Amino acid sequence: NCKNADDVLKAVKENNISFVQFWFVDILGMLKSFQITPNELEAAFEEGMGFDGSSILGFTRIEESDMVAWPDPTTFQIVSWRPSDRPVARVFCDIKTPDGKPYEADSRYVLKRILEKAAAKGYTYYVGPELEFFLFASPKCPEILDQGGYFDAPPLDLANDVRRDIIFNLQAMGIAVEYSHHEVAPSQHEIDLRYKEALAMADTAVTYRVVVKEVARKHGCYATFMPKPLFGENGSGMHVHQSLFKNGRNAFFDAGAEFNLSGDCKAYIAGLLNHAPELVCVTNQWVNSYKRLVPGYEAPVYIAWANRNRSALIRVPMYKPGKEAATRIELRCPDPAANPYLCFAVMLAAGLKGIEDGYTLPNPVEENIFHMQEDDLSKHGITSLPGSLYEAAMNLKHSQLMKEVLGDHLHTQLVANKMKEWDAYRTHVSEFEIDKYLPIL
Ligand code: GLU
Ligand code: MG
Ligand code: MG
Repeated sequence: NCKNADDVLKAVKENNISFVQFWFVDILGMLKSFQITPNELEAAFEEGMGFDGSSILGFTRIEESDMVAWPDPTTFQIVSWRPSDRPVARVFCDIKTPDGKPYEADSRYVLKRILEKAAAKGYTYYVGPELEFFLFASPKCPEILDQGGYFDAPPLDLANDVRRDIIFNLQAMGIAVEYSHHEVAPSQHEIDLRYKEALAMADTAVTYRVVVKEVARKHGCYATFMPKPLFGENGSGMHVHQSLFKNGRNAFFDAGAEFNLSGDCKAYIAGLLNHAPELVCVTNQWVNSYKRLVPGYEAPVYIAWANRNRSALIRVPMYKPGKEAATRIELRCPDPAANPYLCFAVMLAAGLKGIEDGYTLPNPVEENIFHMQEDDLSKHGITSLPGSLYEAAMNLKHSQLMKEVLGDHLHTQLVANKMKEWDAYRTHVSEFEIDKYLPIL
């Protein structure tokens, strides 16, 4: 594990690295990468590497077209899926302006800003995302490869070898894996990572998506993190388990308190519930994301929390005696096609806001919310998540909290980008309409 530039330069020499990939993401969390040869590396650590910011989605302000990528030496890693005789490595980058200031719309910096705010209050933020994905025959159509379901074993689980290979690659990239299984839908899978501090985990989530896609490609199939590729089947979520630590102890745990949850934890949950309508455009950023957030597929629809209930937006996994450190809450709306940096940033901002302003937590809802009728829902005061990208983008646009955490520029760019996507979708005449209306109208 490298700590500084010297460690990286040494590792590059010792391992005979031919290229170093410089990684960062655009505002939607799509990976951007360029390669440099080892000769350039020393200078890159001293001066950064310049690039054209106006060609990166969300970085587009003409006066900001000169951008500089600064490699973060602690993220240096040999890339596991490239040939080992000519090894290639990668580093994540921080984006700065030419005068050396952090670029405010760099996703990594957005997350760092809110983490610093949490740190000033003594908190460390840990997250454990569960990224689900599908394996299809090709990117052209969602042709499934098996008929397996939850926890099915081979021969129903035909992708056992693909998953096994993904895990080996993740481990080779220094990523700790906890378990892996076939998910509920046919051809759907999940590999769970050991929780870690949020910035490292956001980098890890980006790496996970690349590893899964690269390994699938080697096995002749296509991996997708599209939230809802199959009508009538479960979609792919990215539940995020989260906790705050203070002075080395889990700040969400309070022995003897109701549910063993501390006041901080309750206010944090209340913050997430309260601001969910505003942050969902970040955690669920595509038109397709809202086809997953419908009743009946283990994805949340209603804004409520529960101790066990998987139909709620927030679930608190049951406390096991002696396992204080594992006390955490699980937010179930995010999907794996989100920008992980922004996703973690907005969740933390909402939770911290709950703590700062002392939000009160409503009662948990332990009944299956999917089975509740309209009047039951209103009796419990349960409202719904936004039903479409349009609604979500409008909430994002008008949210003061989101503007603060994302920064003005990124906030404006994201809203504009999402409204453009919505407009393209809204005006598109779909197969559904042709099939339904043409024969009768
Ligand atoms: N695939 C479900 C979702 O869309 C989650 C299934 C599970 O509980 O892991 O969130
Ligand atoms: Mg799952
Ligand atoms: Mg889960």
